[in-house]
Amino acid sequence: MLAIERRDLILKKLRETGRVQVSELSKTLGVSRMTVHRDLDALADEGFIDKVFGGAVLAVEHRQIPQTGTCAVCGRPINIHTRVVLNTQVGEDIETCCPHCALLLLEARNDIVSGLAVDFIHGKMINIKTATFLVDPDVTVCCTPAVLCFADDKEAKRFQIGFHGELAPLRSAQKLTAKHMDLSS
Ligand SMILES: [Zn+2]
Ligand SMILES: [Zn+2]
Repeated sequence: MLAIERRDLILKKLRETGRVQVSELSKTLGVSRMTVHRDLDALADEGFIDKVFGGAVLAVEHRQIPQTGTCAVCGRPINIHTRVVLNTQVGEDIETCCPHCALLLLEARNDIVSGLAVDFIHGKMINIKTATFLVDPDVTVCCTPAVLCFADDKEAKRFQIGFHGELAPLRSAQKLTAKHMDLSS
């Protein structure tokens, strides 16, 4: 089997299962672990996967995320430019219209283990745990107060200069958004 065929098979398996093990791949592909590592390195260099201990996972940008169509919090239609997908402990995906609703949900529930949001500048899905949030800037995107999500905090700061609002990491952004909602009700 050619390297490119093996890499296609690895990607196919990752799309099905979300995670692959080096030992398992070495058996099913009939090649050495070294070869599997080389294949995984190549796929990681191309940005398709992230290597993790003993194997690999599909890179965030390449994960297939099911779309349900409406926000789990406010019921608005989901806008693909602002949507957030949260994952619960039992592996359920919850979709919200924008970071505003996602933060309110995170504040209300304690069974959310991870989440992906759309970077406001680049439009890529990014990990909410490492993202920077801008709460209540002078822009209208979806819900009020608006909450924007940035992978790069320098870009977030530059955006804040023009549009105001408060910058915060996930936990504080949750609190801030919940506080805004309390004040407005
Ligand atoms: Zn919503
Ligand atoms: Zn919204």
